[in-house]
Amino acid sequence: MNILAIGAHGDDIEVQCGGTLAKAAARGDNTFMCVVTDGRGRPRGNPDEIAAVRHKESQASAAVIGAELFWLGIPDGGLKPTDEYVAKFVNVIRQAKPDIIITHPKDDYHPDHRYTHEMVLDAAQLARVRNYPHSDLEPYRQPCPIAFMDGVLGLSFIPEEWVDITEHFDTKAEMLSKHVSQFMPDYYDPNFEVPPMDDNGMMKMLKLQSAYRGLQCGVAYAEAFIYWKSFNRVVPRRILP
Ligand SMILES: [Zn+2]
Repeated sequence: MNILAIGAHGDDIEVQCGGTLAKAAARGDNTFMCVVTDGRGRPRGNPDEIAAVRHKESQASAAVIGAELFWLGIPDGGLKPTDEYVAKFVNVIRQAKPDIIITHPKDDYHPDHRYTHEMVLDAAQLARVRNYPHSDLEPYRQPCPIAFMDGVLGLSFIPEEWVDITEHFDTKAEMLSKHVSQFMPDYYDPNFEVPPMDDNGMMKMLKLQSAYRGLQCGVAYAEAFIYWKSFNRVVPRRILP
């Protein structure tokens, strides 16, 4: 099984489906993480240096579960659907050959998340098209479901599938902890250390949301998903672990 998660920013995938990817990797799936933007928006500092740091952090996170990382490197906040950008998504899909794609839900709070959502839907279909003019890679013809991961703190999101990540929560937290720059209060500091879980806003949020979704389905920690109900995207079986 090939599982491809596509997130707008380094750390989005970890927060909303890191446990699911860890569980998939543990059962022997090939996991792929695609980070769309280059992360230069935060923390404050030289934008090119920040982008390089963010790339390394995503590599470290992917390495925790042995996932292959695709780094599209589009500047933060510069994401709008164009042929050039959609072609980047098409190329990722054609290389990863996913049995399922996971990405942001439709109404998420950040424009980069919403445009990622939109371009993933476009690209999933265009990856199938034999004569698509903006990619030289072989078409990927297999229909594959697209699952939308939870929004931040579960707002406006009624799940239809839950993944028990209880045994993989620590791995999910470890993946997030690789994004050291995102725990910095304002300016970039190369000597900064991630504060412990109990004293750390992002980790608290991670734990709270995973526990909330877990409580809904009777386990300690879970992640939640909904599916795109569309032609070529529905299958009569469960794919997520
Ligand atoms: Zn994000």
